[in-house]
Amino acid sequence: MPDVVIVGAGLTGLSAAYHLEQQGVRDILICEQEERPGGLLRSHTDQGYTFDYTGHFLHISNPAFRQFIDDCAGLSFFGSIERKSAIFMHNVHVPYPIQMHLYGLPAEVIYECVMGYLQRSSRKKKIDSFYDWALFYFGAGFVKHFFDPYNARLLSWPIKKLHAGWTGRFVPQTTVQQVVRGALVPADATGVGYNSSFLYPQRGGIEVLIKGLLSRITSPVYTTTKVVKIDQQKKCIYCADGKSYTYRHLITTAPLDTTVQALARSPHDAFAGVARQLWCSSLININIGYARQTAQPYHWVYFPQPTYAFYRLGVWNNISKHLAPAGTSSVYVELSYQARKTKRSAMQGACEQAIEQATSYLGLTAQDIVSQVTLELPHAYVTYTPWRARHLAGLLSALKEHDIYSVGRFGEWKYSSMQEAFEDGYAVAAHIVARRKGGH
Ligand SMILES: Cc1cc2nc3c(=O)[nH]c(=O)nc-3n(C[C@H](O)[C@H](O)[C@H](O)COP(=O)(O)OP(=O)(O)OC[C@H]3O[C@@H](n4cnc5c(N)ncnc54)[C@H](O)[C@@H]3O)c2cc1C
Repeated sequence: MPDVVIVGAGLTGLSAAYHLEQQGVRDILICEQEERPGGLLRSHTDQGYTFDYTGHFLHISNPAFRQFIDDCAGLSFFGSIERKSAIFMHNVHVPYPIQMHLYGLPAEVIYECVMGYLQRSSRKKKIDSFYDWALFYFGAGFVKHFFDPYNARLLSWPIKKLHAGWTGRFVPQTTVQQVVRGALVPADATGVGYNSSFLYPQRGGIEVLIKGLLSRITSPVYTTTKVVKIDQQKKCIYCADGKSYTYRHLITTAPLDTTVQALARSPHDAFAGVARQLWCSSLININIGYARQTAQPYHWVYFPQPTYAFYRLGVWNNISKHLAPAGTSSVYVELSYQARKTKRSAMQGACEQAIEQATSYLGLTAQDIVSQVTLELPHAYVTYTPWRARHLAGLLSALKEHDIYSVGRFGEWKYSSMQEAFEDGYAVAAHIVARRKGGH
């Protein structure tokens, strides 16, 4: 019997295996439903273009993560890039973040944003929703013109029904001087926010990191092995290919809603009905390779207005020139929907519109398109509902009582980065090693 079974060979699962092996644990089995490991960090190539599952840029604040990347893939293989990102609204590009860069927008928009900022309440009331949070820190104008429409498009969810914990920590705070100055003159966006610069592989896409990590792991990865049932009493997982494996400890990085559905049912089931409470957005990531170059200089652009079918567009060849053949360009656009409310087939018209709009926005034509790869992310952004805020910790603890560690972005049902996936793998490995030392 393997000591540890890991469900999912994305960054979290592989980081867990790496750290367990570092601590001398050898009897590990990794089950991955897809044909190759990597999860969201896989890259696809088509006709000389390389596409990731939308932009995956490395923001490193933990020295251990930096060291890990160096050990796995070699830091010299990564370019350090200063962010060039913008918001496109009212036919104008303003640099990100908008709260410091109103200059150039229509006067009425600037007026509403500045007045809203100055008139916002300085008394901290109880902040329940993300809407309250944005209103308190940025005022009614910024909420109306950016925070509300953009986040609602990203998540396909109204922000008044989002818990205040949603991504606030990533939004750059601002001062009255920055708002007013940014409204009067073009301001410098350098160094603002957690993502003002980032690392990205010079060649090969983000999967380079996974390939390097796999070369440092000896545990077997069983691909095309989907775990469909977990018997928490017998400590056994059952796979779609008919095979089953018992375990002492189960680490699962599969989405939490699918994990609770895979559990064996019991009469007094703490997990019954839970999956229905776990909401997330699904994402359609359309990648397009063009035979000609675009003049757009940005790495990525936010589209808060519903005139565009997509809410974000990124230019791959501006991130690394090796992602597209010389003299050409390649982009990604992102469309969001809630799969329990909207069928994927109902998004087809929006996808076609998105391709047309992206092509025209880039100053290119349909005849320039030489490659098109659509990647589907059924789980993309977890919806921070009030239910999640109340029940998530208890749910994860209940699983732990059965020696099931549900970890990672979707395992812990959270918004998190690659660095956090590395840290989640490290933390669960340390926990299991400590339990083994304690005789469990
Ligand atoms: C749109 C988007 C953009 C992002 N951009 C960035 C960024 O710029 N920078 C950054 O740092 N982070 C970014 N992230 C976050 C980053 O992708 C995640 O933090 C990280 O990849 C999570 O890794 P994971 O292993 O937890 O999940 P995953 O990569 O989803 O891996 C889970 C694995 O489990 C497998 N699996 C699922 N169910 C089963 C099953 N039943 N049986 C077997 N296998 C199963 C899946 O196939 C998958 O391989 C982004 C995420 C998204 C969605």
